[in-house]
Amino acid sequence: MPRPAFPKTLPEFMRLFSDEEACAQFVIAARWPEGFRCQRCAGNRSYVRKNQRELECAKCGYIGSVTAGTVMHGTRKPLSTWLLAAWLLVTDKRGVSSHQLERQLGLRHETAFQMLHKLRAAMVAPDRELLRGTNVIEGATIVTDDLSHYRDMPLAGYQRCVESTAHGMAHDDVLTHYHLVISNLKAWLAGTHHGRVEPKHLQAYLNEYAFRFNRRRNLPAAFARLLGIGTQIRGPTYHQLYTDDGEPGGWAHPASTGSEAEEDLPW
Ligand SMILES: [Zn+2]
Repeated sequence: MPRPAFPKTLPEFMRLFSDEEACAQFVIAARWPEGFRCQRCAGNRSYVRKNQRELECAKCGYIGSVTAGTVMHGTRKPLSTWLLAAWLLVTDKRGVSSHQLERQLGLRHETAFQMLHKLRAAMVAPDRELLRGTNVIEGATIVTDDLSHYRDMPLAGYQRCVESTAHGMAHDDVLTHYHLVISNLKAWLAGTHHGRVEPKHLQAYLNEYAFRFNRRRNLPAAFARLLGIGTQIRGPTYHQLYTDDGEPGGWAHPASTGSEAEEDLPW
């Protein structure tokens, strides 16, 4: 099956995803990179039904959903809207806010808000693992500032390196990378999101920040990943987003571990 193309520019996006049929073909090609297999008869020929949402097996007539098990599961919005939202989210370094998406795609704000949170849910791999084992951290050096709390902490086998102006370093040289990441994060939250991030949803925004940073060199894979294609991630429902974690049916944003490897997607 031909590899689905990834649009590098907006005009290219408009050309490649000109209608619902083209969008459905993209999702299908990304979802079955080895070619379609019917889950009932293992037949390998299918056609997309007129609604562009269902796939019918040419051999046994089994009808499956194009979007089942993705973040677009059960959506009433056009696939082109989802694809454009995901494309904007991966290609803009600053991401998009729900207010921007509302204006750009002509959505109700609640729809844009939910769509972005569903896309963010696919930014964390469901089978992620915590860092573990000794070979990962053996010989690791922890770089800290000179905060007095650190002095009495057990080092558990780590080396500690102190960066501090008290040790003769220039102020700007102390923990440069750490400060850069944190200041970029703060600028993003204050800029794109105008600082309006509820504590309940902060984890989802941190996941987005880490996702975009880790995949900045593989936008095509990030694009398919965001749509949850091949990852069986459906994301929170609107009701779940507005229900507290502790309440029945509440949604807790999954935490990224930072140890995720790049997925082996069909690009
Ligand atoms: Zn079949």
